[in-house]
Formats: sequence, C-alpha cells, structure tokens
Amino acid sequence: MSITVTLLGTGSPIPSPDRAGPATLISAGEGPGGEHYLVDAGRGVLMRLAQAGLGAGNLAAVLITHLHSDHITDLNDVITSRWVMTFEKTPLTIFGPVGTQKVVDHILASLEPDIEYRIAHHADLNYRPPVTVIEVTEGVVELPSGQGGTVDISCAQTDHKPVEPSVGFRFDYEGSSVVTAGDTVPCEGLDALCDGADALVHTVIRKDIISMIAMQRMQDTLDYHSSPEQAAQTATKAGVKTLIYTHYVPPIPAGGTGDDWRSLGAAHFEGTIELGDDLHTVVVHPTS
Ligand SMILES: [Zn+2]
Ligand SMILES: [Zn+2]
Repeated sequence: MSITVTLLGTGSPIPSPDRAGPATLISAGEGPGGEHYLVDAGRGVLMRLAQAGLGAGNLAAVLITHLHSDHITDLNDVITSRWVMTFEKTPLTIFGPVGTQKVVDHILASLEPDIEYRIAHHADLNYRPPVTVIEVTEGVVELPSGQGGTVDISCAQTDHKPVEPSVGFRFDYEGSSVVTAGDTVPCEGLDALCDGADALVHTVIRKDIISMIAMQRMQDTLDYHSSPEQAAQTATKAGVKTLIYTHYVPPIPAGGTGDDWRSLGAAHFEGTIELGDDLHTVVVHPTS
C-alpha cells in the first residue's frame, strides 16, 4: 500500500503570491475516507487543503515540527474551522514539541471572543473547541484511545537551534514509510528517524544564494537550515529512495529553476528528487 505526500504549502516566511506557508499532508487512502495527517500549518493551509478536496474535519491529527511562526500561522484557522464546520463534536489532536500546549492555550485565549459569540449564537454548538495537545520528544506518537488510526507514527528530535525543541515525524503504513524533517540541519535524531524510510520530505534553503545576500537577517538563517546538498546527504546516509524538497528559500523560480535545485541534490543522492508548486503530490510505495 502507498502513502501520498501532498505539498500543501511550499513557501517560507517570505510572503509569496503563489506559495502558501509550510504545510505537508500525509495521506493513507484518498479523499474524505482516507486517513490524513497535517504536518505544520502555515499561511493559507486550509485554502490548499480545500484545493486538495479536504477540510479541517478530515484531519486525523495535526503535527507541528517546531514553533516558528511560519509553521503555525494558520493553526488558529484549523482549530476554529474544525470546531465550527463539523456538525458533531470532533476532537482535534495536535502533536508538537514541548511548548506547543502553551502556544495552543494562547491561540485559544485569542479566540475567546469568537468562541463566546458562536456558542451564544448556535444552539447546537454548546461546547468549546475540543482540542487536545500532546507534547512529544521522541519515540512512538500515539493518538488518544478511540481515535487510533492505521498509520504508525513516531518522532525524533531534530536540530534547528536556537529553536528548541524541534521534532521530525515518521509515518509507517503497510510497508511504506515517509519522514517529514521540518527545519533542521543534519543530525543524529533525523538520521535515526530516516533509517530505511522510503521517502524524506525536507525543508531546504539555497545557502549558495542566501550567503551572497548582504543582510545579516538572511545570513542568520544559514546555520539552522539544511541546503539541498545537506538534505541529499541525509537521504543517502539513511538509504531513502525519494527525497522531496519543500519550503524553498528563495522561492523558485527566483532562486533558479527546479532543475537547478535538483542537480545540487543529485550530486549527493542517487534516488529520485521531487519538488514543485503547492499541491505537488508524490505517491510513495514500499521500496524494500
Ligand atoms: Zn523554522
Ligand atoms: Zn521554516
């Protein structure tokens, strides 16, 4: 059986007219009947999810790799839309690194006026957004009892310092496996998570281009992201067959064509390299 990876948002903190913020959908099965996991919830995530034919109510869980604003910009929209647009109580589980509970508590606090308006106005909406946060560090990621799906999920610490903690996730489903690295430099935690996986979704920045920009704030981004070359090295080390780039800085095509990015990785990786626009989809089959 296969896992489908949909790059819902391939952008970065830099607002783009045609790239939504960081968000990746991991699906076992298709359409509303499938089991769907949202990894990160950047700008415009529910618009892209709608383009993929799904809504907040179709998510089995949300998984946050780290608490950088561009990765959680629209988490409030996911929480609210899930609550208001499902017509029976549909708990939402959010996994994330330590600190996620506090962030979600603050999001809910900011939504308090809206929550009061809607509960007062809709007779059948007599409960607050049913959100459960589970903070994770490493090992098995388990949904609350009764919500368990058929996909096995695990996580490991990544290295996005000084953003700490940060985690990557691995999804195993009937012989197929996909890792979503999030933002990280190469590290042991990610290596272990990727070991033998079929596909790796990795955020990347073009260090060769960014290092030429004489702005300290851009230079600062070099030491906590991976380049296409580094992501390729991680994939090779772990025996991954398909490497999927996302979170393009600078955005493609300003930072060269997709083939430019692909050839940088291909010097370090013999497998298939995938990249593209928002909604680019990769079907991952078992390879070993
Ligand atoms: Zn980040
Ligand atoms: Zn990022």
